[in-house]
Amino acid sequence: MSEECIFCKIARKEIEIEVIFESDNFVAFPDANPCSKGHTLIIPKKHFVNYLDLPAVLGSELLDVIKKVAEIQLREGAEGFNIIVNNGKEAGQVVMHSHTHLIPRRKGEKARVSFPCAN
Ligand code: 5GP
Ligand code: ZN
Repeated sequence: MSEECIFCKIARKEIEIEVIFESDNFVAFPDANPCSKGHTLIIPKKHFVNYLDLPAVLGSELLDVIKKVAEIQLREGAEGFNIIVNNGKEAGQVVMHSHTHLIPRRKGEKARVSFPCAN
């Protein structure tokens, strides 16, 4: 666990956040710069750099948390959601503590989500 890592500090609750959902090994909280209303980040409580680093044994718990957060977003009016994971600087990863973006989508609402392969 890194002393300086901002998401480690969030996981240790040294920085106040709104906990949207929490499991044994993950915590979900609002993104500070949301791409759409309700944009949520899911992070492991332990420091892992990205998905390559994340133990596969945590995979099913992570999927469960993704589904729980998505259900909350759908209850709050979302009609769909994007799951985005940036792995590595060249892929757009800025915070080097593994995190999964869950971005709720609503008809007619503009979201700042871009797909590099779409043209
Ligand atoms: P990345 O580009 O690394 O996949 O995304 C990092 C995300 O973390 C960005 O969407 C950014 O808005 C969010 N973020 C960075 N620092 C903080 C913070 O201190 N608190 C919260 N809630 N979100 C943060
Ligand atoms: Zn960390």
